[in-house]
Amino acid sequence: MNEFELIARYFGSSHHGADVLLGVGDDAAVLDVPAGYKLVAAVDTIVEGIHFPLNSNAGDIAWRALAVNLSDIAAMGAIPKWFTLSLCIPQVDESWLKEFAESLNHLAAQFNVQLVGGDTVKGPLNISVQIMGLVEQDQWLTRSGAKAGDLVYVSGAPGEAAGGLQLLLHPELQISQGEQVHSSYLINRFLKPQPRVELGRLLRPFANACMDVSDGLLGDLRKLCAASECGAMLRLEQLPRSASLAAIFDEDRSEQLMLCGGDDYELLFTVAPSNISQVTQAASSCAVPCTCIGMINQSNELRDVKCFRNNHEVHVSVNGFDHFA
Ligand code: ADP
Ligand code: MG
Repeated sequence: MNEFELIARYFGSSHHGADVLLGVGDDAAVLDVPAGYKLVAAVDTIVEGIHFPLNSNAGDIAWRALAVNLSDIAAMGAIPKWFTLSLCIPQVDESWLKEFAESLNHLAAQFNVQLVGGDTVKGPLNISVQIMGLVEQDQWLTRSGAKAGDLVYVSGAPGEAAGGLQLLLHPELQISQGEQVHSSYLINRFLKPQPRVELGRLLRPFANACMDVSDGLLGDLRKLCAASECGAMLRLEQLPRSASLAAIFDEDRSEQLMLCGGDDYELLFTVAPSNISQVTQAASSCAVPCTCIGMINQSNELRDVKCFRNNHEVHVSVNGFDHFA
């Protein structure tokens, strides 16, 4: 199979909506941005051995490549619409490509996003997805909008994905019969992140700041604080405890995974205290739990994140993931 047959077979057959004036097949896609909206764009590359373990399933790789981009769109409070795919593969393996395309199409259909173009080359396995979405005029969410006195919230149960990765990387860990269900749950949280697009849309009208958590809760909260020129107080006893993490890891390890583990793709956001009931409403209407984990401080607090346990400050040394650290 040559490059053009490959593209046509696996990536060329999508039916485009009316908003795609030109899709796969021409030199570039042409997309219709409706009046009253802005175009939101993001790109994320995932590399074998770095963002996913060697010999991962093609379906899991495809899922991750698109999901991490959907998560960026979610963090902006935007509606995902279109994506392009740059696929670098070591060889043409039809069963691999079939599984990859099926999983990609499955997730794309779930979020109503359309593949409108891409690039296919030979080389070490890595995948880039560039995603585009729409957001109402001047109403996107940012990392930089947090204000002193805001409450800090996180969706879901951070740490679960990192727990799942630990289980994948350490098959020698002894898992009892009773722990199997928790182990599978955590592994699935790592392999199939669920982008919080609906939550992001619901938060857009009232959240002051928002970002997605990909590199660890603590490190990402620091990034939000730096962007907003403020500090934050994190209350460790309020962190959402995952029953599955607790079933497999001891309390210290669970907390470390919660604070420093990556790959959650949950939303971290801040709201004025007067909007608490709106958060509760948003969380219940999209069935994603949101937990208040702390507060934004005045900017003179050194733009730092301080951790407290039952009102006593505790030192947490570990940072989030950094490719170049
Ligand atoms: P060009 O050489 O003009 O960049 P290509 O030969 O690379 O074009 O691609 C031909 C068409 O197929 C283009 O419309 C491109 O967007 C699309 N395409 C290539 N690879 C992919 C892919 N992996 N997924 C989706 N569309 C792709
Ligand atoms: Mg061309």
